[in-house]
Amino acid sequence: MELIFKKSDLQIIFDHCLASVPNEACGMLGGRDGRVEKAYCMRNAKPGPDYYEMDPEEQFRVMKDIRDSGLKMIGLFHSHPMSQAYPSSVDVNQAYWPGTQLPNYPDVVYVIVTLMNRAKPVARGFSIEEGKVNEVTLTAV
Ligand SMILES: [Zn+2]
Repeated sequence: MELIFKKSDLQIIFDHCLASVPNEACGMLGGRDGRVEKAYCMRNAKPGPDYYEMDPEEQFRVMKDIRDSGLKMIGLFHSHPMSQAYPSSVDVNQAYWPGTQLPNYPDVVYVIVTLMNRAKPVARGFSIEEGKVNEVTLTAV
């Protein structure tokens, strides 16, 4: 599995993550066929250095914009200001409706940006399915 970004979109994501330090930043990715066409930088409604939650109203507006643009929500991103780019146990739990194995967003790629080196943010992608984490290759073009 692979997710393709425009370099400019990746930079928009990195800038948003850096601007939100020391807290986590989050956003959504609209695209099609494994290509990100639009990165949406969003508000962290419950900001913390190891936590994020999207604002439901903003999420609704972004999902509508994605649909209106003829795209699909193909990914979510958030930052880890002080830890590696790998899903935390909270991230894995949040991929499901509480208490179930039903994915919140089937077939999305979870992109995590680590800011451990502020001068050089690194993004990695993952699928979270049935509680299992698998890496998805991110390519910038
Ligand atoms: Zn996380």
